[in-house]
Amino acid sequence: MSTVLDKFLRYVKIDTQSQDGATTVPSTDKQRNLASLLAQELNDMGAQDVVYDKAHCYVYATIPSNLPEGKTAPVIGFISHMDTSPAVSGENVNPRVVAYEGGDIVLNAEKNIVLTEKENPELAHFVGKHLIVTDGNTLLGADDKAGVAEIMTMAQELLSNKNLVHGKIRIGFTPDEEVGCGVDFFDVEGFGADYAYTVDGGNLGELEYENFNAAGAKLIIDGHSVHPGSAKNKMLNAILLAQEFQNLLPVHENPSATDGYEGFYHPDSITGSVDHVVVDYIIRDHNMEKFEQKKRFFLQCADFLNAKYGKKLFTVDLKDSYYNMKEKILPENAHLIDNAVRAMEEAGVTPTIVPIRGGTDGARLSFMGLPCPNLCTGGLNYHGRYEYACVESLESCVEILKNIAALYAE
Ligand SMILES: [Zn+2]
Repeated sequence: MSTVLDKFLRYVKIDTQSQDGATTVPSTDKQRNLASLLAQELNDMGAQDVVYDKAHCYVYATIPSNLPEGKTAPVIGFISHMDTSPAVSGENVNPRVVAYEGGDIVLNAEKNIVLTEKENPELAHFVGKHLIVTDGNTLLGADDKAGVAEIMTMAQELLSNKNLVHGKIRIGFTPDEEVGCGVDFFDVEGFGADYAYTVDGGNLGELEYENFNAAGAKLIIDGHSVHPGSAKNKMLNAILLAQEFQNLLPVHENPSATDGYEGFYHPDSITGSVDHVVVDYIIRDHNMEKFEQKKRFFLQCADFLNAKYGKKLFTVDLKDSYYNMKEKILPENAHLIDNAVRAMEEAGVTPTIVPIRGGTDGARLSFMGLPCPNLCTGGLNYHGRYEYACVESLESCVEILKNIAALYAE
């Protein structure tokens, strides 16, 4: 069995699901099971400076430079996250490797859960290859244990093969990425890399350095509750006020009507009654100017309605969440993209540069002083029971990581 597959299958069987809204760090204690295993394996393979930050559940390690005396290279970091999405269970993951010859893949005959060609046309690219699938009861956890397994395999190969020349490489494994807290306690200074890559993307060849600018907008609506029988000209129903507010926003600027570089407003949750309603919106746009415009417009809608009703019924609590890392990558750190493209081409992979319609830990790290684009892992259909990964893609991703290490040592 290939090393990366062996590691991958070992890691996905360890349940590391993170939990939304937890007050502890990490959000779930079980993430430590993988963290301590990785620290152990890094020590066993001869990595240096292996640090398992038990308090926050981060693992760091160094692969020392083997450059000839007098030669220097920038320190390159590779980072992936150990947790899996709260969306679907990661308990008792039961992966299966399928030699794919085309057609549908029955994941679970009993429950009639099928990965169909019709819904997954990209399956056609994998005919003749090997796919790792679930038994339909859980997610697979390729997000991001594919990244973890690839980094660990790269580390092992760089440490054991003296012919692979590289500068100092730093490795970081993080908890709680899926609940938005992956880099809250990441020690950027201690990590000490000049540049880094997160290995947390999807299909083979994907390379990402543009993500959304993101904000959360809590819309708080204070209505006026009166008995419905005597409410005429008195009641102000906060539910209807929420609807009125939503109707002011551009109809087509929502997630289900946008893609590529198109931004949106998205009411993500709503709670309340006649008296009081809270709507949590998220606002997204790749372009900073349009992002600022969207936020201004949102506030103007509240002002407009407050003026209409002659009292402050609408309050907006607006907070930026993260920004587009592009401004930290281009132009001065374009080498991160150039080298990733070269590394892919040398591994026989065609790079596809795509804007992320979300954020990455690398986006936050980029603004914490560590420029950090995102590399593919070879997994697809993340966060669900139809998640799968291609064995040959995992192997190519290991090649890509090794090639990047080599390119920075040139
Ligand atoms: Zn991920």
